[in-house]
Amino acid sequence: MEEQGQRDPQIVLVPCPFQGHINPMLNLGSILHSKGFSITIAHTQFNSPKPSDNPDFVFLPISDGLSYSDLSSKGIVDFISCLNINCKEPLLESLTPMIDEKQQLKELPCIIYDEYMYFAEQVAHLLKLPSVILSTGSAANLLTYYAFPRLQKDGFIPFQDDMALDMVPELHPFRFKDLPFRFKDLPGASSENLDALSKLIASARDTRSSSAMILNSMEYLEQSSLIQLKQQCRIPLFSIGPLHKTAPAPSSSLVKEEASCMAWLDKQALNSVIYVSLGSMVSMDEKELTEMAWGLAHSKQPFLWVLKRGPPGSFHGSESTDSLPNGFKETIGNRGYIVNWAPQNEVLAHRAVGGFCSHCGWNSTLESISDGVPMICRPSFGDQRVNTRYICHVWRVGFELENDLSREEIEGAIKRLMTGKEGEELRQRAIDMKVKVESCIKKGGSSYNSLNELVDGLFSS
Ligand code: UDP
Repeated sequence: MEEQGQRDPQIVLVPCPFQGHINPMLNLGSILHSKGFSITIAHTQFNSPKPSDNPDFVFLPISDGLSYSDLSSKGIVDFISCLNINCKEPLLESLTPMIDEKQQLKELPCIIYDEYMYFAEQVAHLLKLPSVILSTGSAANLLTYYAFPRLQKDGFIPFQDDMALDMVPELHPFRFKDLPFRFKDLPGASSENLDALSKLIASARDTRSSSAMILNSMEYLEQSSLIQLKQQCRIPLFSIGPLHKTAPAPSSSLVKEEASCMAWLDKQALNSVIYVSLGSMVSMDEKELTEMAWGLAHSKQPFLWVLKRGPPGSFHGSESTDSLPNGFKETIGNRGYIVNWAPQNEVLAHRAVGGFCSHCGWNSTLESISDGVPMICRPSFGDQRVNTRYICHVWRVGFELENDLSREEIEGAIKRLMTGKEGEELRQRAIDMKVKVESCIKKGGSSYNSLNELVDGLFSS
């Protein structure tokens, strides 16, 4: 039996309930658990992670009163705002008894919350608990949030289409089209969303009473952005990424992974397979899907394609293997493999995977770079454009595919990455980056040191 006062220090994690946010938060949970903390995951019932997959954590459900149809009808920005309103009281009520008990033992938990779940800071403040922010995007993306009020005041936002290729003043290396503020691109966006989006951005960049911010990034990748961010946000920053390479991987997938694709990959030649996935939120319409299908087929390259068939009303719902064009399956035979959801980290680490056609969410970007896989970028909304600018222009490990491409252009892009000299150069740079990223998390590396400082800080908080 545990003696009083001998218990592990407690951390309560509050993830934002989307795949790209749950994954890094649970990775962080695994890392902190391995450092001696007890981890409680205070999670919404919407997109709840599976407790049975993560026996090391205690799961605390918070009622949110929201469903997939709310997500579709409200759009992502309003949905997140509703989460923040609906979840505050339930989190307060769930934590209060835990705090009363702990207060007698003088071992109060620290709350680590996703930057979009800012209600958790209000709860921490009310309960007099320390709180820390986890920003699951890049440092560069956060810098654009800090620049937002200035750009809005100077009349640059919303920007006109003819300014798309102009450089944003004082925000190198971005052009206006790279900024994450094109609210009309957001899933479920309506014209009323601009105000809501600007409030959401303001809330996400506001550090309030939180004592530190954790970033799933690293000095090697984003040194200049991290230096600028430190000046802007005025609380200590801990860039400890890539989290998925530091943590023993917990299963945080909301959708069942189709592991059968790994056996298919085993049969493919080194660096021959193009992996295609647009993450958890972006999907193709029927026309794009048809063009992508024929582009893949005509490229003659082996491919692994994630076509999501999600619950009705979710953003996953619009793709389907039923929409694949007639004759496609017969044309590709065994050269292509299609899954609903892939074990992406294993896929990217597989020797057969030589390229990734991605929407460039931050997790996918980090995962691809960490495994030395060059990219074809097809961004849609939010930080995907920011990440694409870095991938293509700063790190030069990929190139961008404009939307609404024909099958011929897609075929050409796949050949350019997988068989051309340029693709070889991109791959070599990606492999060099992989080695440097690995050194960040090894003993003495920047993320390794930053994690140790964070842990010391959490133990003494
Ligand atoms: N992912 C996965 N299997 C898939 C597609 C995606 O496991 O078939 C994971 C991927 O590894 C990443 C996350 O889902 O960790 C997606 O996050 P990202 O930030 O790339 O994009 P988002 O889904 O937030 O748009």
